[in-house]
Amino acid sequence: MEPLDRSTIWPYRDGDPGDFYYQRYAHPTGVAAEEALGKLEGGEAFLFPSGSAAVTALVLSELEPGQTVALAEGAYYGTGVLFRLLERWGLRFEDYDQPGPPPAGADLIWLEAPSNPFLTMPDLEAAVAYPAPVVVDSTAATPVYLRPLESGADYALHSATKYLGGHHDLLLGAVVCREPAAAERLRELRTRTGIVAAPDSAWLLLRSLKTLHARVERQTATATKLARQLEAHPGVERVRYPGFGGMLSFDLDGDSRKVETSLQLIRNATSLGGVDSVLESRHRWEGQRVPENLLRLSVGLEDVDELWADLEQALSQA
Ligand code: PLP
Repeated sequence: MEPLDRSTIWPYRDGDPGDFYYQRYAHPTGVAAEEALGKLEGGEAFLFPSGSAAVTALVLSELEPGQTVALAEGAYYGTGVLFRLLERWGLRFEDYDQPGPPPAGADLIWLEAPSNPFLTMPDLEAAVAYPAPVVVDSTAATPVYLRPLESGADYALHSATKYLGGHHDLLLGAVVCREPAAAERLRELRTRTGIVAAPDSAWLLLRSLKTLHARVERQTATATKLARQLEAHPGVERVRYPGFGGMLSFDLDGDSRKVETSLQLIRNATSLGGVDSVLESRHRWEGQRVPENLLRLSVGLEDVDELWADLEQALSQA
């Protein structure tokens, strides 16, 4: 493994700063992780202490007060909550239906591929044809299934807490930029605000990226089978699965709390993208925005038949 360097300072050489001098500007473990992610996405990557920190840094770097973000309807609810918080500083946003064209007058198009927890896919072609920069929150797709910069997006964004980290043991975010000028703006904002990821989580990300493909391909195979089994189950009204990735959601004809509390192998917990399967009702966090009986399942690396047996016995309690 690449070494973990927790230094905050590195001595000058003959009186001159070298590549690294103070951790807020850059640190070797972070740069190694950024290079690995940049290669996967085909752009210049920047790490942040969480996905939400990455969202914050990107809108502050990209927009002026009074400008408007067109936000994919049904995207991770925390992104909309954050934008609402930033309205005090002059950020505006409006929801739009991402499988369709973006609304006129937006200064930044914010897509999510696929959206969490509704699993819709954006019309990326229509978005990049529009005269405003395009961000794709690609947390759930991962670079294994989508490389947004290759399709003309300006930024790919990740909650690396999810699939990139993959083990439920690190909180991290990332923005990958296509254009060098945008990358420089973001680097300057990150250095000056100090919204900087620590070496320990960068090191964990480096470890995790080595298994990214193997993990998400297996999660896709498992989720595909479970989605089919759920669709055939009489206690399930509707299944949402885009055909790739480890996240799906389904509407239950019954008591979702009973399913949550009857699970034995699958953990009843929030978040997604890790090696351990988790399931939760999103209504507790998102309120009326989601159906009361919507359950989100993030598939881990357990045996698919054991997962189905656990789901089936929990569904029988509903
Ligand atoms: N984007 C998506 C799609 C998410 O699912 C999340 C978190 O659930 C975030 C961004 C925010 O990331 P974090 O929790 O790492 O701040």
